[in-house]
Amino acid sequence: MILCQFDDHRLGLVDGDLVRDVTSVLEGLPSQRYPFPPGDTLITALPTLRAHILAAAGKVAGVPLSRVRLLSPVANPGKVMGAPVNYQKHLEEVASDPGLHHQINAHMQAIHQSGLFLKATSSVVGPSQGILIRHQDRRTDHEVELAVVIGKPVKGVAAKDALGFVAGYCIGLDITVRGPEERSLRKSIDTYTVLGPWIVTADEIRDPSNLNLWITINGELRQKANTRDMILGIPELIEFASSFYTLWPGDVLLSGTPEGVGPIHAGDMLHAHIDRVGDMEVRVGSA
Ligand code: MN
Repeated sequence: MILCQFDDHRLGLVDGDLVRDVTSVLEGLPSQRYPFPPGDTLITALPTLRAHILAAAGKVAGVPLSRVRLLSPVANPGKVMGAPVNYQKHLEEVASDPGLHHQINAHMQAIHQSGLFLKATSSVVGPSQGILIRHQDRRTDHEVELAVVIGKPVKGVAAKDALGFVAGYCIGLDITVRGPEERSLRKSIDTYTVLGPWIVTADEIRDPSNLNLWITINGELRQKANTRDMILGIPELIEFASSFYTLWPGDVLLSGTPEGVGPIHAGDMLHAHIDRVGDMEVRVGSA
């Protein structure tokens, strides 16, 4: 099942080139009062909503995807976790470029040493909203990544059981200002986490460890790799993350970027692809 959020937070089932509006199923979500429970309400309810979504989609005509504005497929992620250096060739690239590591040893360590980082959830947008460059005078880079959306609460899970806690996958762009500051500052600017174009549920991607991913900027190929090249695979990343944090439905784990990171500028058009997830185009503007 492929689910998107579009226009003014309509819920859509993606069916080929069409989107079928199934927003009516949201009426089945539990009514909540302050203080709200942790986790994204829709992702939490997804297992029980599934049959209702399919039934609702069968009753409505589709609208061409090209006519809707796609938003982040997760409306309220509780946290966005990032894997700093999780592809060997990207580690080598960082170590060889002072513009990437800024003489800070922690920026040159593999993931085992540096662990994970958090991005502010206020940085999350969908592809139609675009990236707005905030500091025009500083180098700002694209990073294309497989994004994992957690589906059930989990803490201390072993890698062998970890994929059972995944709701689905989307493309993540981890936009990054280069410089010496903490990653959580440089990567948390508004619009610097693009999630999209939709979420493909985990039953459709049983094994996320062999997916090609690439990104072009204005038609020029910049990054191209396969998720098999990750240092820690998705199950190991979830094990690692859940050994520090409780993971909640709707939490997003950005699994790291391969080699080929490079600058983006206002006016650029990004096109990102991940096998079995899809393609998304994202425009770059200025804040
Ligand atoms: Mn990244």
